[in-house]
Amino acid sequence: MAANQVIFREGEAGDDAYILESGRIEISMGEGDAQRVIAVLEPGEIFGEMALIANAPRSATATTIEPCTLLVLRRNRLMKPIETADPIMRLTIQMMVERLNDASRWKAGQPLISQGSEAQRRAFAEVRELALRRVRTERELRRAIEKDELALHYQPIVGIADGSLAGYEALMRWNHPEQGFVPPARFIPLAEESGMVVQMGRWALERGLQEHAAIAAVYRTVHPGQPPPFISINVSAAQLHDLSEIDRFAGIIEAAGVEPDQIKLEITESLMADDPEHAAEALGRLKDLGVTLAIDDFGTGYSSLSYLHRFPLDTLKIDRSFVSRMDHDMASRLLVRAIVDLAADLGLQTVAEGVETEAEYAELAELGCDFGQGYLMARPCSASDLRGMLAQ
Ligand code: C2E
Ligand code: CA
Ligand code: CA
Ligand code: CA
Repeated sequence: MAANQVIFREGEAGDDAYILESGRIEISMGEGDAQRVIAVLEPGEIFGEMALIANAPRSATATTIEPCTLLVLRRNRLMKPIETADPIMRLTIQMMVERLNDASRWKAGQPLISQGSEAQRRAFAEVRELALRRVRTERELRRAIEKDELALHYQPIVGIADGSLAGYEALMRWNHPEQGFVPPARFIPLAEESGMVVQMGRWALERGLQEHAAIAAVYRTVHPGQPPPFISINVSAAQLHDLSEIDRFAGIIEAAGVEPDQIKLEITESLMADDPEHAAEALGRLKDLGVTLAIDDFGTGYSSLSYLHRFPLDTLKIDRSFVSRMDHDMASRLLVRAIVDLAADLGLQTVAEGVETEAEYAELAELGCDFGQGYLMARPCSASDLRGMLAQ
């Protein structure tokens, strides 16, 4: 580009940002006599990004003062990562752009108009709302852990063939000081969104294993020589984004003194669907801890049967929705049968979730499903209730 060329002008709509490769560029504000140079850019500097980030017209004019070469950064290239970033990060970036804009206008002797269209203000308010909500939830959930407001309940999992206790699933509960008991459906998604699920999941593993050690001790005195039931713990995909979390798991398991083969981790299909490479790595490392792995809610979501053999799995948990429709819906019954058969072929065990009726139980027995969990057999209960049940 030759010298003295306008790249963009104040007030224009902006679609691209630029990186200056060679030459020099002048950024100015105002027009005619009021025009002031606010910056001279050197090679390596980025410019034109502010209008894109603020979703506003160009706040300044860019002119070459020497022959220049430019690298064009398309809107999408710049904005995709920002739009998908954490909302607090987005809010921070937008605020910084706004302040920088004000500072530049002040420096250039321009009136400080906090301009911006209605749509822009709305978009800004939305990001702010999202960011605030996230910060608040995060604070509340962190407080819940600190104030010991979280608890685990345990729901028995029985062998379908003889009804014996095979294990139990740890299910999180939040005893909120004002709202009372909050079911996990209302806070786990928020915990996942805010990232707090990482700490909460760690807490669940720690607490679950402590309580499991006590339950298993009771079991051993009542059933000497028999292997104690396993404990199943839910692990959110978000807990495994960072593989170093698995080292922490190892530390927690070691500290609790629980044999890893008594621990089953339940992971949803989304982990495998989102990034199969990463999932294979994460599941492989978990498996190396000596625990067993289950896919939760199997059959919902993204079920691609093709991935099953790629991961070191032990168990499929058949989603409640299929189990509860099994007695009156042929398709669901066929699906449960297909899952049980497939699992058998792959050497995996099956757990049917949400068994509520005798008819469902009988059906599952006939299909050869290994384990069942549901209100028919038992509802989730506290650790002390479970110990009491086992002591009888
Ligand atoms: P999930 O992992 O599918 O857990 C089974 C849910 O089904 C539990 O709900 C359980 O109480 C319920 N359930 C069991 N049997 C029956 C039945 O016969 N009928 C009916 N209608 N429901 C039955 P809950 O405890 O409300 O948990 C809901 C979800 O919250 C869980 O679904 C799981 O996705 C999540 N969750 C719970 N605890 C944790 C946790 O510690 N970590 C993570 N990441 N998620 C958790
Ligand atoms: Ca589960
Ligand atoms: Ca489930
Ligand atoms: Ca039913």
